[in-house]
Amino acid sequence: MSLKIVMIGSGYVGLVSGACFADFGHSVICVDVDENKVARLNDGEIPIFEPGLEDLVRTNHLAGRIEFTTDLTAAVAQADVVFIAVGTPSRRGDGHADLSYVYAATKSIAAALTGYTVIITKSTVPVGTGDEVERIVRETNPGADFSVVSNPEFLREGAAIDDFRRPDRVVIGTEDDRAIAVMEEVYRPLSLNTAPLMFTGRRTAELIKYAGNAFLAMKITFINEVADLCEKVGADVQAVARGIGLDNRIGKKFLNAGPGYGGSCFPKDTLALVKTGQDNDAPLRLIETTVAVNDQRKRAMARRVIAACGGNVRGRTIGLLGLTFKPNTDDMRDAPAIAIAQGLLDGGAHVRAYDPEGMAQASKVIEGIEFASDAYDVAEGADCVVLVTEWNEFRTLDLDRLKSAMTGHGFVDLRNVYRREELEAAGFTYSSIGRGDENRGVLTAPEVTA
Ligand code: NAD
Repeated sequence: MSLKIVMIGSGYVGLVSGACFADFGHSVICVDVDENKVARLNDGEIPIFEPGLEDLVRTNHLAGRIEFTTDLTAAVAQADVVFIAVGTPSRRGDGHADLSYVYAATKSIAAALTGYTVIITKSTVPVGTGDEVERIVRETNPGADFSVVSNPEFLREGAAIDDFRRPDRVVIGTEDDRAIAVMEEVYRPLSLNTAPLMFTGRRTAELIKYAGNAFLAMKITFINEVADLCEKVGADVQAVARGIGLDNRIGKKFLNAGPGYGGSCFPKDTLALVKTGQDNDAPLRLIETTVAVNDQRKRAMARRVIAACGGNVRGRTIGLLGLTFKPNTDDMRDAPAIAIAQGLLDGGAHVRAYDPEGMAQASKVIEGIEFASDAYDVAEGADCVVLVTEWNEFRTLDLDRLKSAMTGHGFVDLRNVYRREELEAAGFTYSSIGRGDENRGVLTAPEVTA
């Protein structure tokens, strides 16, 4: 059965989910308060970079299955299902999730409800938010017939469409039979593909999302600390990661050492979970430490580059390859590149940078850097080049061309894309993350104590 689905918020999650639901055959209206975004979407322009999204939106728009509007009231009035997919950034000052967008959307939805409607929080929201959404709807529209469900989203930017279509699981938090029947219909095309729909209590569903992100952030932070140890003791973090990752209890993913996690989710979600733990007298010390270690790490990356330049970058030119927090997105939220660029600028460096998709967003969040037209343009006059984000186009650089554009010879590889031998053969001084086996010659054996 085709449902009438309304998506409130047409950002990374709302737009991808909306387009995928339309592709399932549902009739979707994406709502946003941002008039410019809606106008662009109606003109066939996709405001974000996400592989495959433009085609998916265009096909379903032409087929009349997805439309875009700022008119929330009209859209909600005809809906069977309303998803809330607005932002939940960190609240300034204290790190709690800022729920003002969620609650503002809830009030507007409540006033517009007609007939039985399932209201679903797809935004990442702290445990108990569904209860408050339900209370607000009841208060705003006492006669409304509705259920509130939690259905957190697990898609990854850069692979969002595939993740949405082939999720590891779909978590649905409700104990209300009417809502369960509707949610089964919403995701029926996925359940035909045997994607597991997991029904739980609403609070449990809310917490699953935070616990999942916190665990992944902790896993990344763990391997980053192991990388630091590898550098000191002459071991190779990539081999350690493979050696532990082959153990099924650990798993191979999220064990790539690098400059620290960033992006639109992990930093704010770990912080918000820490706050929830503290507020409920159940502190999550592992996550508190993860947050602190990761913050320090992002700043330490600038110091690492400065050290690679002999301890001083004043007046020197440093080139950054990649700015987004990971490849295949234009998202710059909390990207490590921000702290790295700032640290280098503070050290007196002149910073040139290039990113295949992220420069428009980067120009809004990093001041004082110069943007280049490609990797070789970044290298022009640079003392040192830093590989910050492992976009594919940085994996097969013409090293001779890069080197000849530079005045210096430093190459800091924060993603372990290259091998030391090939960089040194091209005349670079190379440093990477956690490959202490390359320093073996200068390390001494541990003291033997009797
Ligand atoms: P986003 O900032 O890209 O998009 C949010 C959109 O909501 C914006 O376009 C904004 O204009 C709109 N909006 C705000 N208030 C509104 C209102 N009252 N009515 C209509 N539109 C409104 O955010 P996002 O990255 O899509 O994230 C949305 C939520 O999903 C967050 O809670 C996030 O944590 C979660 N999430 C994000 C990802 C991700 O990879 N980006 C993955 C899983 C979950």
